[in-house]
Amino acid sequence: MDYETFFQDRIGSLKQEGRYRVFADLERRAGDFPHALHHAEDTPPQPVTVWCSNDYLGMGQNPLVMDAMCEAIRQCGAGAGGTRNISGTNHYHVLLERELADLHGKPAALLFTSGYISNLAALGTLASLLPECVVFSDALNHNSMIAGIRASGAAKHIFKHNDPADLDRLLARYPRDRAKLVAFESVYSMDGDIAPIAELCDVAERHNALTYLDEVHAVGMYGPHGAGVAERDGCMHRLTVIEGTLGKAFGVMGGYVAASEAVVDCVRSFAHSFIFTTSLAPSLAAGALASVRYLKTSQIERARHQERAATLKRLLIGAGIPIMPSVSHIVPVLVGNPVLCKQASDELMTKHGIYVQPINYPTVPRGTERLRFTPTPLHDDRTMADLVSALTSVWSRLGLDRMAA
Ligand SMILES: *Cc1c(COP(=O)(O)O)cnc(C)c1O
Repeated sequence: MDYETFFQDRIGSLKQEGRYRVFADLERRAGDFPHALHHAEDTPPQPVTVWCSNDYLGMGQNPLVMDAMCEAIRQCGAGAGGTRNISGTNHYHVLLERELADLHGKPAALLFTSGYISNLAALGTLASLLPECVVFSDALNHNSMIAGIRASGAAKHIFKHNDPADLDRLLARYPRDRAKLVAFESVYSMDGDIAPIAELCDVAERHNALTYLDEVHAVGMYGPHGAGVAERDGCMHRLTVIEGTLGKAFGVMGGYVAASEAVVDCVRSFAHSFIFTTSLAPSLAAGALASVRYLKTSQIERARHQERAATLKRLLIGAGIPIMPSVSHIVPVLVGNPVLCKQASDELMTKHGIYVQPINYPTVPRGTERLRFTPTPLHDDRTMADLVSALTSVWSRLGLDRMAA
């Protein structure tokens, strides 16, 4: 077999479909977010405005966070020096786990190297430890949850997205004493819709099922202390496990779960992707700790974030740009074709200095290719006006569909 040709052909077909991924080479500049430099071949670095960052609140350049990280490096050095079990548990990890448990009103929390690994490890472990567990997974769950459920080997049913009645119907097929786990997200990041958490908990409780909530796109941003939508909705205590990331609104890196002592202890003791890997650098844990603590009390970022998202939606609707319905801070704009989606993104970057990554299949269903904007507290009126005028001209040039204003 000609291996090299095989691999080249696989890439060739991705390119033909218009869904070959090209990474924008960015130089983020602390203090200047959402502006950055874009490095491209053959030209000097160009200034761009980043419109698709998951650093939702700009905490990645918050001086308190950066100072905490620098201080931790000076104090502890660069790396953790081991796995959690073998010399790699740093005091910052312990402090951060306490802080996260407290944030979510749970007795315990456990850190991972990313949110992806936290879902893989926690779902994989819990659903495999429970005898004959059946997992009920929302149809739009993130790849990391799907990976965890698959890894567990448990039987799985997919319930209709955000549909408590469909979940109820599926759960009713099983006896009350059969082990069951319901897994879903709060904010779905591609559409910007929000789960009916209380109703899903009602259904799960009725059938004696455990609940697992991914709050990755909500922690830091929703709830009076930034604990997420479950906090906002007053139902944190009803969830068995709450999972979050330190890499999005908290602006650093890492993931975690918060739950009871016994649940957390099981994941800590049985999850291979937790056990057999070097723990987070102390500086990352220190930065995340500063960020979580800050956002527990500061409301300014959350309020401004929501206002900015509402303002952008209003401006885009006014310009006839077809935004998709979203009740959160996510602002998706429908293109509906992978090639045009990529082309619109390219033109925004090269002609207008605006960076928004095209979102294509398999991240979203074919035919719903989109540009996904994430306004932050740092996207000011001027930046928004520039975006709207750039989108208006790209929409005209490419003959893209508009929405009746
Ligand atoms: C980004 C994401 C994750 C993974 O979190 P990371 O910290 O980036 O690994 C998990 N779940 C959802 C829904 C996500 O969007």
